[in-house]
Amino acid sequence: MSSQPRHVLVIGGGVIGIGCAHYLQQAGFRVSVAEKGTIGGACSHGNCGFVCPSHVLPLAEPGAVSSALKALLNPNGAFRIRPRLDPRLWSWLLKFARRCNHNDMVSAGHAIQPLLTSSLSLYQDLMRFASLECEWQKKGLLFVYRDHRALEAYEPVNSLLTSEFQESARRMNAAELLEFEPALKDNVAGAWYYEHDAHLRPDRLLASWRAFLEKKGVQFFERHELLGLEKADSQATSAKFAEQSIEADTFVVATGAWTPQLSEILGIRLPIEPGKGYSLTLPRSESDPQTPIMFPEYRVAVTPMQTSLRLGSIMEFAGYDSRLNQRRLRMLSASASQFMKQPLPTKINEEWFGWRPMTYDSVPIIGESPQFSNVILATGHNMLGLSMSTGTGKLVSELIAGQEPHLDPTPYSPHRFC
Ligand SMILES: Cc1cc2nc3c(=O)[nH]c(=O)nc-3n(C[C@H](O)[C@H](O)[C@H](O)COP(=O)(O)OP(=O)(O)OC[C@H]3O[C@@H](n4cnc5c(N)ncnc54)[C@H](O)[C@@H]3O)c2cc1C
Repeated sequence: MSSQPRHVLVIGGGVIGIGCAHYLQQAGFRVSVAEKGTIGGACSHGNCGFVCPSHVLPLAEPGAVSSALKALLNPNGAFRIRPRLDPRLWSWLLKFARRCNHNDMVSAGHAIQPLLTSSLSLYQDLMRFASLECEWQKKGLLFVYRDHRALEAYEPVNSLLTSEFQESARRMNAAELLEFEPALKDNVAGAWYYEHDAHLRPDRLLASWRAFLEKKGVQFFERHELLGLEKADSQATSAKFAEQSIEADTFVVATGAWTPQLSEILGIRLPIEPGKGYSLTLPRSESDPQTPIMFPEYRVAVTPMQTSLRLGSIMEFAGYDSRLNQRRLRMLSASASQFMKQPLPTKINEEWFGWRPMTYDSVPIIGESPQFSNVILATGHNMLGLSMSTGTGKLVSELIAGQEPHLDPTPYSPHRFC
């Protein structure tokens, strides 16, 4: 037995790759991270920053197809599909549509929940242990409604969340809500409040986490795009980049929405579609809300971070189109403005989009690759990658170390697509 620690190369430096690097380093591995752009520069950069165990229920829910069709007819709606002849997209959408039923929704919820719960608890440990400067706050999350019927219609969802997932929200009427969150206009009907959710500033999380890991000896290689894997038998031996080849004992592929582009290298095509979302980051002002808010009727989120206010939303299936659509960005501020007592600042600090790695079953893909026994996939975290990063990282480190996993990895297995 060599006395050298085993080397793990993580490919992809988003929040999932960094979460994996953290727990692998803690478990005693020598860890490197190779990233084709910059660490934390992709979908993990400008997202809404919610660490939200409340989001147990997946996007594929009963009625999602009809709401999506209605939203498609509204050019300012939060859901868009760029119509195109792409058999993979249509196959993905068809499989997604088939899962929009009660049983599949609940079963996806049961798959997602352990990762969400474990991640929140691990984040809390991480904030104590590593003191990451990322504006971490635990203030809960409000679901605010303007329409009384829509507020009422959430009651059965809350009952289901309570009975199946022990995740319940406190209902607030308009007067209670306005006392709790005076930044809102008085045209609101009320809200549901999830008090256990937390939030942070994702770009600062990634920057401070990277600095923390660098001090622990983790090596980072930016502008390193994976071009191939050298193999011997059913094992990968080294990863090829234009700049160099890097040998490792184990490889973790955490390449988010780009994972399908690595199909040939990985020997498996994973059903991941890029789900494009947008955010606007505004300067902080005294009239901002204190608590993060979702406006479900408009599908827009507002996150009051300590140094900025972020508006985010939209699910656009437009392939890897990297244009920043101004109409979508304007829709974010137009929707949020309808709820805010004071006008939003006109100055904008950042306009952003990111590609969420969307699986049609809403469940991430974590586990051994079907082709190589020493390649572990950690991808497909849909709309909740930030909320699942620490649990994913710990699980990946346990799988690689051959330890008893802290949660059942079966639902995340890549083999479900073989
Ligand atoms: C508008 C919006 C709001 C969101 N809000 C939230 C939220 O509030 N809470 C939450 O939990 N989630 C949220 N999400 C989802 C979350 O951002 C994603 O699930 C998460 O960032 C995915 O992380 P990742 O590490 O898998 O992907 P990424 O951050 O995209 O990282 C993947 C990395 O792999 C690299 N890569 C790809 N191919 C290669 C290659 N060949 N070689 C080397 N590197 C490669 C990429 O450059 C990239 O940096 C939101 C997303 C959007 C768009």
